[in-house]
Amino acid sequence: MLTFKNINTLTVLLLIGVLICDFFILLLPALFYVMLAVVWLFFTVVGSFNIRWSYHLKVYNKRNVITEKKVVITFDDGPSNKYTLEVLSLLKKYNATATFFCIGKNIEQYPEIVKRIDAEGHIIGNHSYSHSDFFGFYGARKVIGEIKKTDELIKNNIDKKVKFFRPPFGVTNPSIAKAVKKTEHLTIGWNIRSLDTVIKDDKAILNRITKRIAPGAIILLHDSHERILPVLEQLLIFLQNNNYQTISLETLLNHKEYA
Ligand SMILES: [Zn+2]
Repeated sequence: MLTFKNINTLTVLLLIGVLICDFFILLLPALFYVMLAVVWLFFTVVGSFNIRWSYHLKVYNKRNVITEKKVVITFDDGPSNKYTLEVLSLLKKYNATATFFCIGKNIEQYPEIVKRIDAEGHIIGNHSYSHSDFFGFYGARKVIGEIKKTDELIKNNIDKKVKFFRPPFGVTNPSIAKAVKKTEHLTIGWNIRSLDTVIKDDKAILNRITKRIAPGAIILLHDSHERILPVLEQLLIFLQNNNYQTISLETLLNHKEYA
């Protein structure tokens, strides 16, 4: 499997091989060492930015064993005072369930929305406290601090200890792997990235999602921008017309969502 650990082991073995060759057999050009470093860097950068690789830690991105038409809808970056309540209304209208990966600082601002998400039967997950652009550069101690602070904010509002964590931007690294191991969270990714905060056209976002829909999928959306409302409604209609059911992460992964 293509993991950080395996790539490191392979790189060390190749380095030993190159060194042996260099010292005892024939002098190798420095380019061999540079190439080794470039290949290591390539896999590590791509693996860190691609949560679906589970490169640094075990990440739950979908569940292949599910054969019935069931999918999980997830929302990141809320709660938002502009869109989250309308998202909840749409979910109710179409009898759907979802998981909301909330940012700690937004929970502080809109605690009532967090309570409402919980009261309406949806799941809440941890999406860090700051969602800083530099989160990927934080050391393990700082990541643990962010996770714990957000856990506490959620607990203060809904009296539940969350188990699911989604790293900001889906970026993983050794610090995040160490932190999550310590805080005992399950790291949740996705296998359908809607790019709803990037693509400006509702139809294009919807097409991107619907052509990838399959049993056991985890769909990534954001309840933090205006396009979410038309996109979500069309998605819920699509799921209904195609006999898909939305289920919770707990059901999909067979793991308790709260400790
Ligand atoms: Zn996010």
